[in-house]
Amino acid sequence: MVSRVIPVDPFDLVIFGGTGDLARRKILPGLYRRFVAGQMPEDARIIGAARGEMDQAGYQAFVGEAIAEFISEKKRDAETVAAFLERLNYTPIDARGEGGWDALAKMVRKEAITAFYFSVGPGLFGDIATRLHKHKIATPESRIVVEKPFGRDLESAKALNAVLAESFDEHQIYRIDHYLGKETVQNLMAVRFANVLFEPLWNAQYIDHVQITVAETVSVGGRGGYYDKSGAMRDMIQNHLMQLLCLTAMEPPSKFDPDAVRDEKLKVIRALDAVPTENIVRGQYGADGDGPSYVEDSEDPESRTESFIAMKVDISNWRWKGTPFYLRTGKRLKARMSEIVVHFKETPHSIFDEDAGSHANILSIRLQPDEGMDLRVTIKEPGPGGMRLVDVPLDMTFADALGPEAADVPDAYERLIMDVIRGNQTLFMRGDEVEAAWAWTDPIIEGWITRGDKPKTYDPGSSGPEDALMLLHRDGRRWREISA
Ligand code: NAD
Repeated sequence: MVSRVIPVDPFDLVIFGGTGDLARRKILPGLYRRFVAGQMPEDARIIGAARGEMDQAGYQAFVGEAIAEFISEKKRDAETVAAFLERLNYTPIDARGEGGWDALAKMVRKEAITAFYFSVGPGLFGDIATRLHKHKIATPESRIVVEKPFGRDLESAKALNAVLAESFDEHQIYRIDHYLGKETVQNLMAVRFANVLFEPLWNAQYIDHVQITVAETVSVGGRGGYYDKSGAMRDMIQNHLMQLLCLTAMEPPSKFDPDAVRDEKLKVIRALDAVPTENIVRGQYGADGDGPSYVEDSEDPESRTESFIAMKVDISNWRWKGTPFYLRTGKRLKARMSEIVVHFKETPHSIFDEDAGSHANILSIRLQPDEGMDLRVTIKEPGPGGMRLVDVPLDMTFADALGPEAADVPDAYERLIMDVIRGNQTLFMRGDEVEAAWAWTDPIIEGWITRGDKPKTYDPGSSGPEDALMLLHRDGRRWREISA
């Protein structure tokens, strides 16, 4: 299979925080990969803007090192890397003061597409937006890319939306959630809306329940102070898992267009029920030989912030009434794995005898580690000896079906950055969506703060607290194994 790469128009991309961790690990290596793929036009330019003096050569060296670290050797011959580095420039900037803005204004071309990536702490988003406007660096067609976290509650999200709106129109604002840039997440929409096979069954009548898991093996070590003010609910559920839930649960949009898709996602968020206490399990990892406990990492022995959360979420609409969505995410778990699993119901009546057992179809959509989909179907076990049933996977791993090139899918960040340049907001969150997500999240958090709930301790390398298993057991269901 030959991959189709459509070059984008000439652009100037300014990365505020161009020397930070995210820029180094994701944004710049991602841009390099798009360059190698031939997607960057001749005169596309990338400008790093951050705190600290550095000249163009210094920044090129910095980015060269990032490429050496994050790009495999066979994709970075010296000539290609040098050609990419030619596109780079740097300018020091003070987001909170006036230093550096005039110099940036001189560097940015007005005739090209201009995009400004806010890869800095959230406290600077408003400052940068305001100064881009004040110094007339942005045009009415410029785009800004805003990283997470987008607020820490409804009030702060509204305030941030308001401050951005003073300088930019909603069509210019790209609130990034890199989960939406994953190949499989978009494939979920293709599977649902480009096949007649699934959509008639995609409802409470045929789907028993849905599980969404984002499991990490890492601890919060190193950024415990930041994380302690956030927790799994704010850091993961309100944005990433919520987005996955929306794409799974939404009605078919009338077309694959940014506002049509985002309108449908918004309706799902607004249909989410409040979550009662008994449907929430929060946890904190304990210590083991490999590392300290959560409270040691957070440096607050009294911390009640959750490093794990599992919850049962109900959606009050015709399609989903009676079909729960179980969400689960945490740190220091057994394996690094993100997946959406759709458990269909058993057949209404089995014509086979009891030995055949009970069977149900399962569609799993895996975001990581190996992006792909798999549908479990029940067939007859081959051979003599009567009708024995067995579940087998219809594996839709891209590489097997479409050739090895298909496995080499672009990273979420690079895909999303190219969408920004193209002016396509479909895979970005709209302001009202983010606010609706906080409006659902806030009372849940307030609930456990008011009650003074303490998270349960769980063993590092496990699947989370025992109570999280019980959350499904009591409904006669079971979590999928967390495995890499
Ligand atoms: P970082 O601390 O590594 O880098 C911060 C960058 O901002 C540096 O380049 C620094 O020079 C610049 N900066 C800081 N203060 C400045 C100021 N006053 N004026 C101008 N520049 C200033 O942070 P990071 O990890 O790269 O994260 C950046 C953003 O991306 C944050 O909002 C973070 O929440 C988000 N994010 C990061 C990751 C990640 O993996 N690192 C993942 C998801 C989201």
